[in-house]
Amino acid sequence: MDEHAVVIAGGASTGLMLAAELSLARVDVVVVEPRMTQEVLGTRARGVHARTIEVLDQRGIADRFLSQGQPAQIAGLVTAVPLDMSDSPTRHPYGLALVQQRIEETLAAWVAELAVPIHRGREVTGFTQDDTGVDVALSDGSSLRAKYLVGCDGGRSLVRKRAGIEFPGWDATTSSLIAEGEWSEEPAWGIRRTEGGINALGKLDGGKRVGLLLVEPQARDEEPTLDALRSALVAVYGTDFGVHKVTFLSRFTDSARQAASYRKGRVLLAGDAAHVHSPAGGQGVSLGVQDAVNLGWKLAQVVKGISPESLLDTYQAERHPIAARALRLNMAATALNRGDERATALRELVSEMLAMDEPRKRYAAILSGLEIHYDAGAGHPLLGRRMPDLDVITASGPRRVFTFLHEARAVLLNLSAPLDIAPWAERVQRVDARYAGPWELPMVGAVPAPAAVLIRPDGYVAWVGDGTDHGLQDALSRWFGPAVTFAPAR
Ligand SMILES: Cc1cc2nc3c(=O)[nH]c(=O)nc-3n(C[C@H](O)[C@H](O)[C@H](O)COP(=O)(O)OP(=O)(O)OC[C@H]3O[C@@H](n4cnc5c(N)ncnc54)[C@H](O)[C@@H]3O)c2cc1C
Repeated sequence: MDEHAVVIAGGASTGLMLAAELSLARVDVVVVEPRMTQEVLGTRARGVHARTIEVLDQRGIADRFLSQGQPAQIAGLVTAVPLDMSDSPTRHPYGLALVQQRIEETLAAWVAELAVPIHRGREVTGFTQDDTGVDVALSDGSSLRAKYLVGCDGGRSLVRKRAGIEFPGWDATTSSLIAEGEWSEEPAWGIRRTEGGINALGKLDGGKRVGLLLVEPQARDEEPTLDALRSALVAVYGTDFGVHKVTFLSRFTDSARQAASYRKGRVLLAGDAAHVHSPAGGQGVSLGVQDAVNLGWKLAQVVKGISPESLLDTYQAERHPIAARALRLNMAATALNRGDERATALRELVSEMLAMDEPRKRYAAILSGLEIHYDAGAGHPLLGRRMPDLDVITASGPRRVFTFLHEARAVLLNLSAPLDIAPWAERVQRVDARYAGPWELPMVGAVPAPAAVLIRPDGYVAWVGDGTDHGLQDALSRWFGPAVTFAPAR
């Protein structure tokens, strides 16, 4: 049987990001993906948020995405009311408009450079786990053995179902059709609100084709049909505009669900396999990519025996509340964007509030993922927050902090007297640098300059120095395993 340290079920954005993270950590990983290519049916995601751009920047690949897309101000709570975040303290104070297919293709190209094998044309059909690993059955009758299996296999995740992990949440109250096709009568371009929510007809391919978004009269969940599309058009516009040659037709609902647990033994979940919600706010790809970046280095350390399995519990502890909050915001956005008079009144009120500086900054920081705050203990405001991409001066010249994270290794950034971390030198790189500029965090504002910071591979601050090494060894052991002492060579 083919053996690997980790098998990832699903090679879309979440699975590919996780594969790259594990590969950077020198873990033997393989991806199983049913699609023969990275082709994505229909448009699906149209972009990613600022923290995701930063995460890609931490790995040195943000430019590959930025060069293909357009910076865009983000919406998220009230559709068509963008939250200007251009004053946010980040190198990327914007979202990136880029369709899912380009996102996936670009990630797949990176994963190919890292030489991660992808078993295409096969899917995971089941698995059994024991104390030492997981036997993973594939659709071609073959099987793989792994220490861990990660389900990145989307909202209908087979891995989640077979692991018996519950998926509680809220049933759909509304459904929408999304389609692409041609028309014979000029469509009523633009957005039209109806009682159920937002409908939109937009030009594709320079106006030759139409992209449609339509709220249905009743919430439905089965595979959509052309008849359902035509009826939904007639219900909203009184005509179906002679829509034909429909090349893509899909249905989504406002149901919101989240896995009760992100791990069962040696089986983990990430991305849509762990949480689903309506596309309002465009959070899906960003949540999944950041799940992967949170999980990757932790799983790598556990697989290598550097850290105990309990490190994996911090994946659920940190990422579950982030998706839970995204689900709540998503449900609020669905309610706010309905077309009835009460929702309209509420939307006007919220829009007014979001035009004020404080709420605008707050919700821009939340929706963009820049205000994420993991529990790393009390103390300096940097603790548990993302490390800003400062321009520091090292002995070899000016550097951006994110460049130290390209290899997905932890960093101790010494900004005053150098601290000794010899027992962790294999796992944590020490960078001695100078920085005299301001420290400013999204939503928090200016914070006191630290003497040193311990940065995890995912870019979050695990320890802040006050000029002494107080608490440093505890933080190093907690996140990067016990000290390693080498016996002197005889
Ligand atoms: C209409 C629509 C609009 C959207 N708009 C946005 C947006 O603007 N912004 C945004 O961020 N998100 C958006 N989303 C959500 C976004 O598409 C998802 O959140 C995102 O694709 C999740 O990525 P994932 O890798 O976790 O899962 P998926 O993209 O669902 O990928 C799952 C992968 O697993 C594979 N797979 C399935 N079963 C198996 C199996 N048994 N074994 C192995 N592999 C398997 C699939 O082939 C697939 O490649 C939208 C979604 C829809 C439907």
